[in-house]
Amino acid sequence: MPMLIFTKCVDCKRRLETLDRYYSVGEPFIKCDYCDTYNLIPSHRTEWALRGPVRRTLHWARVVLVGCMVGGGVGLMAAEGMKYLGHDPGSL
Ligand SMILES: [Zn+2]
Repeated sequence: MPMLIFTKCVDCKRRLETLDRYYSVGEPFIKCDYCDTYNLIPSHRTEWALRGPVRRTLHWARVVLVGCMVGGGVGLMAAEGMKYLGHDPGSL
């Protein structure tokens, strides 16, 4: 699930934002488009190799949770679709 990260450039104080596509795994900095300064954002995003065991566990917990929510939603829709078509999913 992509997440937006907002921060402020330490040099020119402009607002910076980036889209976090990989569950906060990635390079722990944003480059300012205006002054080319690299701004560190390790509390938002960091390389997998730099993470400690607690953050790795939290990462997987979040991935599994989102996966269950998406998977459960698809399962419920399939069950509703089967009912609509006249099939009882419980009797398969
Ligand atoms: Zn800047």
